Amino acid sequence: MAVAKGPDNAEKAEAQAAALSVAAGDAAGAGSAVAAAGAVNAVVRAAPVVLDAAAVKKMLPQGLLTPLRDIKVIGARRAEALLELGLRSVGQLIAHLPMRHEAEFAESPIGELIEGAVCSARGEVTLVKFSGGPKSRLNVAMVDGSGRLDLVFFNQPYLRQRIHPGMRLVVQGKTSRYGHGLQMSNPKWTAIAMAPVGYEVAGGGEPDKRDDRLRPVYPACEAIASGDVEKAVRAVLDAALTLVDDHLDEAYRTKRELPTLATAYRMMHVPGSDQEVVSARRRLAYDELLLLQLAIAMKRSERAAIFQAVPLPCTVAINKHIRDRFPFTLTADQDSVLREVVGDFAKAVPANRLIQGDVGSGKTAVALYAMLLAAAHRHQSVLMAPTEILAEQHFKSITRLLAGSKIRVALLTGSLSPAEKAGIVTGLAEGWVDMVIGTHAVLTQRVAFKSLAVAVIDEQHRFGVHQRAILRDKGISVSAPGVQMLLGDERAQDAGAAGGKPVKWVPPTTPHTLVMTATPIPRTLAMTLFGDLDVSVIRHLPPGRKPVATRVVSRAVSDEVYAFVRTRVNAGEQAFVVVPMIDAAGAAIDDEDDGLGFGEVAEKSPTDAAVASVSAARTWASVQSVRARLAEPGSPLAGVRLGVVHGRMSSEDREVVMDKFRAHELDVLLATTVIEVGVDVPNATVMVIEDADRFGLAQLHQLRGRVGRGGKASACVLIADPITPLGVERLAVMRSTGDGFKLAEKDFELRGFGDVLGIRQSGMPPFKVADLNRDMELLLMARRDAGAWIQASPKLEKPGEAVVRRRMLKSHGLWLGLADVG
Ligand code: ADP
Ligand code: MG
Repeated sequence: MAVAKGPDNAEKAEAQAAALSVAAGDAAGAGSAVAAAGAVNAVVRAAPVVLDAAAVKKMLPQGLLTPLRDIKVIGARRAEALLELGLRSVGQLIAHLPMRHEAEFAESPIGELIEGAVCSARGEVTLVKFSGGPKSRLNVAMVDGSGRLDLVFFNQPYLRQRIHPGMRLVVQGKTSRYGHGLQMSNPKWTAIAMAPVGYEVAGGGEPDKRDDRLRPVYPACEAIASGDVEKAVRAVLDAALTLVDDHLDEAYRTKRELPTLATAYRMMHVPGSDQEVVSARRRLAYDELLLLQLAIAMKRSERAAIFQAVPLPCTVAINKHIRDRFPFTLTADQDSVLREVVGDFAKAVPANRLIQGDVGSGKTAVALYAMLLAAAHRHQSVLMAPTEILAEQHFKSITRLLAGSKIRVALLTGSLSPAEKAGIVTGLAEGWVDMVIGTHAVLTQRVAFKSLAVAVIDEQHRFGVHQRAILRDKGISVSAPGVQMLLGDERAQDAGAAGGKPVKWVPPTTPHTLVMTATPIPRTLAMTLFGDLDVSVIRHLPPGRKPVATRVVSRAVSDEVYAFVRTRVNAGEQAFVVVPMIDAAGAAIDDEDDGLGFGEVAEKSPTDAAVASVSAARTWASVQSVRARLAEPGSPLAGVRLGVVHGRMSSEDREVVMDKFRAHELDVLLATTVIEVGVDVPNATVMVIEDADRFGLAQLHQLRGRVGRGGKASACVLIADPITPLGVERLAVMRSTGDGFKLAEKDFELRGFGDVLGIRQSGMPPFKVADLNRDMELLLMARRDAGAWIQASPKLEKPGEAVVRRRMLKSHGLWLGLADVG
């Protein structure tokens, strides 16, 4: 068995030497296992070089940790260049995988080239002819002893300076008939270096004729090209592979038709066929997914073993009592989600459930049900919202629903007076406040609960990294990019980092936690990043909703838009007008007052950054400018009752305006994105968004979700003259669908998962090989395997599991807060 070292293990260099010959034999054996699995080699390779232990020891004295600069064949210069790619040691070099492979075909004499096939040939350039113009072409004739091949390069005028008669070239491309001979258009080409007259070049100046092969293409940088990376890899590969330890044993691999790790690396760096690349990829992708799934499974099992929750069984009477409070019948989707929630909450293990549902799907009712379940058992609950406006609104609607009950509800936000705050804080500590609704002020204050049993986090995608840390301190166990963080383990690490000895802190009980989000999470991600959360989905909106008609118009016709708003106002309906800025000075779009790193930060994309200079020159519509425009005598909205809210107003002032708007004492509400989430005014039927291209897709969808909440037909008008490709695309998507799930898919496409879901913030290491879009099967397999493995060995401490455990903790221990890290 291969007992040699893994890339991350430096000890026992001697032991590895003894095992080397065996390890080499093992790797060769696995090759045939792959063949049996259907990955047949297309190329007969030379028999693997069998390196004896002494030779390996001499070349790699520190095993896989041997610094590249100590390896003569690589050389100091190239080692330094490799360092720029972050590659310091032999192990790291071997783990630096090609991005793709390019087929190179064996060369034949020109006279033997086959028409219509991709081939390679070499010869001497005899003729170069250039014709310019908008569609330039460069004709090159190349001959060898057997015939003439014509090359034609379109639209590459610069090649005139690089290809000259007398040069020798190797070319590859698809041949086609041309006159009496063959032609290649836009072939790949390389010049064969020739010795200047009077000099000699080692090896005779001409490289060997090429055989069929798959050339690995490595991530490279300015300092070092892919070809040089390849040379370095080749120099150490045979020796290094004898030292690669496999964390999966032979029986495990055979059952799943996986090659050994060493074989996978070999097939990646020096593939003998397409099949080998596929097989190698499969093994390496599986490894990545498996290590993640093992970590997640371990996290779950840890939580079940360590953390206790108050069981909150739901009786028939409690259920009826709670339902009677709602002015509507719950939808089938709400019911089915609640069944799952109730099932979770009955257990003494803290629930950790993500509820996803499009804007307006009725998540609040589910949250409230859960909170009332806590109240029914005389325990406390907390509802956290990302903005004050949303917290206030939840407070109002919940107080209204609970009017006449004995349940005491409190609102705790950053803008309460110290005395008011103190009162609520005392109430929570002493237990006479049953339910608290708040912003992160709930968290930053030193709030202690008497018996917190349920925590709900609304609009989780709006919470920042900072808030998660505070939640964690409250003993709230949530793991999601929005509101990650798990209790004691992290706290233990913090203590460790602060210099003290890590102490494992376990709260007496941990609340059941529900996380609400309007951002749908694809199944693959739900199983990876959110793997230790259970997921429920509300798919359908409550009955009676009319779809919101969406239009995109140019700024030039904004008067017509406001004339339309006027007709709706005259009909007794209300409208929102949203602008990106508070004033012309450009006070940020990001004007949310509770410091949550709203919107823009998360919405930025590389494409946007590239055109930032363009947009910097643009003036965006602001509260100030639009208010002035709408108040002009000739304006279609002159004389309507207009209210304004933005993030720089005091919370009382804002609340006064919001209340008036809800009570229909105002017709039009001009606002910044402070109204983005949660605001619920069913009589509002028009949403106008000025400079809509300034907002991200998720934001636009949230904003649009503010209308279409009553029974009346609603409209969303996006005013924009987009100047960036991304801006154009977003608006097109907005117009084409009102379905949040489809929209999110599109958003993922445009911006990538990482940005949309805050994955980059989550700390999860990115996959190098696995691709969630195409490795669903592997993911399912890894998940099943990991579940079974952890069930059989919850801590991975059985003999033979040391390597897998070490690799798993190294990749995922920290970000998942696994207790055993370090
Ligand atoms: P979101 O999922 O976006 O948080 P809300 O919980 O704010 O959605 O619900 C949106 C609107 O739908 C609210 O006005 C709410 O009262 C209403 N609603 C929720 N559930 C139902 C239902 N089962 N039947 C009718 N209306 C409902
Ligand atoms: Mg909501």
